[in-house]
Amino acid sequence: MKRKLICIVCPKGCEISVEYDETTKEVLNMTGHACRRGEEYARAECIAPKRTLTTTVRIKGGGLLPVRTDKPIPRELMFECMKVINRAEAPKDAKIGDVIIPNILGTGSNIIASANA
Ligand code: SF4
Repeated sequence: MKRKLICIVCPKGCEISVEYDETTKEVLNMTGHACRRGEEYARAECIAPKRTLTTTVRIKGGGLLPVRTDKPIPRELMFECMKVINRAEAPKDAKIGDVIIPNILGTGSNIIASANA
């Protein structure tokens, strides 16, 4: 498979072309990257894309608390993470930065409050 990406790691915005095998997850060819960080970004975006999840969680007693992952998680786990978040409740006194769900689905990423309750 071939893909063209705009690197978002720095403002230069290099256009990177990647050819990779979807079955073996092997990058066969890459052009257009100007540095190692761009190479790593393009490789991850094609082989194992990750995203930061932002959403809300119920607060005990009522209301919704904005939350997010503190590290990007595999894109294919977004739906399963939302199921866990939808079953959770945040304490009434949650503060910005508090861990609401630790290590969600074993990803190493915590769901943290992005505002005070
Ligand atoms: S490849 Fe390197 S120089 Fe180009 S946009 Fe990405 S980080 Fe910046």
